Amino acid sequence: MPGLVDAVGCVPLAPALGWRDVPLAAQLRAALRDVDFTVTVDNEANLAALAEQRHGAQAGAADLVHLTGGAGIGAGVIADGRLLRGKRGFAGEIGHLCLDPAGPACACGRSGCLEALVGLPAVVRRLLPDAAEDGPVTDFLPELDRLKALAGQDDPTVRAGLAETGRHLGRAVAVLADLLNPEVVLVGGHLATLGPWLLPTARAELAARALTPEAGGCLLEASTLGATAAALGGATAALATVESGRLPAR
Ligand SMILES: [Zn+2]
Repeated sequence: MPGLVDAVGCVPLAPALGWRDVPLAAQLRAALRDVDFTVTVDNEANLAALAEQRHGAQAGAADLVHLTGGAGIGAGVIADGRLLRGKRGFAGEIGHLCLDPAGPACACGRSGCLEALVGLPAVVRRLLPDAAEDGPVTDFLPELDRLKALAGQDDPTVRAGLAETGRHLGRAVAVLADLLNPEVVLVGGHLATLGPWLLPTARAELAARALTPEAGGCLLEASTLGATAAALGGATAALATVESGRLPAR
């Protein structure tokens, strides 16, 4: 889920989807006709972080962050080898960190959030103003391909727009670096796809904004796990139960 998920699989809020108070795990169980295996719901950033820890280019790192890219931006945090969840399971909701109070409106009702500046719909709105001419964009993948193609052709507007987007991203990563001192922050989704044009300015901004020397040694890289990071993490989490010998009791 790209949104808040509590311990029993309810989604109190998912601004990117417009969801509020959805008992998702219960609804899934009902839709599956009350199957007798466990149905678990988790946040996509958390699962992507588990996938990075186990299968990513930086596998084995005790302190890492996976920052999801897409409509929503969320952070999955591995701290001291464990997934950081917080009191109610809501840790890592960095998508609504306010980077610019005078910035664009956000789906959460506020302005200038990281998501409203760096999320894929926001980037498409800014850099491909003709995208919504035939109605609201619902599938952003063709637009992402267009952005990648235009950046590859050195389109000056798109290149400058992506460099600016990278600066916003870097400011948020600097907060993560100072707060958590991770070894690496891995960006996924469109942030990885557009990484060649986003990450140079993001890294410069990280170095300039982080309080800690050399951003505490924090690397900023594109995830190598592609669009399947969260699904891979879901499988990893399910297999961890088996590997630990804690099989579900019948
Ligand atoms: Zn917001």
